[in-house]
Amino acid sequence: MHTVDRGPEPSGLGSVRRKYTPRWVRHYRDGHGTKPSDSKWRDFHENVSNAFSSLCGYCEEICKGEVDHFRPKSKFPERVYEWDNWVLACHTCNRKKNQHWPSGGYVDPCAKSQRARPESYFHFDTKTGEILPKSELAPGRWRKADRMIADIGLNAYHHLKQRAQWLRLVSEALNAVNDADNEELIEFVASRGTELSSIARAWIQQQGYSYGD
Ligand SMILES: [Zn+2]
Repeated sequence: MHTVDRGPEPSGLGSVRRKYTPRWVRHYRDGHGTKPSDSKWRDFHENVSNAFSSLCGYCEEICKGEVDHFRPKSKFPERVYEWDNWVLACHTCNRKKNQHWPSGGYVDPCAKSQRARPESYFHFDTKTGEILPKSELAPGRWRKADRMIADIGLNAYHHLKQRAQWLRLVSEALNAVNDADNEELIEFVASRGTELSSIARAWIQQQGYSYGD
């Protein structure tokens, strides 16, 4: 998981938000009316997908993805149509996350402040492929990171396998090309638009390579 800059909200979202948000608020906050059936966020799937470079905001694997409401609709109905609340999530992560929102919430992949960013919470074990809470975190922050990993299943076997395979492939490719091509390959692998780049950046640094960020 790493920080993603979504960029500005797409044009046309403002009027959709004004039109459709009140029903969600009435239902979930005020307890009136049936659950709204609109899902106009799907109309903005391409915008969200482009903002996240077609990578899941949680597991960083390439995906067609779905528009996930970072703060769940049932608990934050006033944010159902807020651009800042939309994350591209693969089907697996979205399903696991569901309507969960522990006290203190989760780590926001699009957090603006340095302290709130994923890079402040997580690091990677490049041997096992695991994403882990940073050990120096204060207890509350450590629990928030740990809870997120557990709830979304970020260390599920299929994710560990993907990460291990990717690092093996990168390593083999670096051994196979000459120094000039190495640089280009490292820049590509470390780029935030490339799948699994967080763990790749950690691995690259451990190998003593450098890259521009
Ligand atoms: Zn995912």
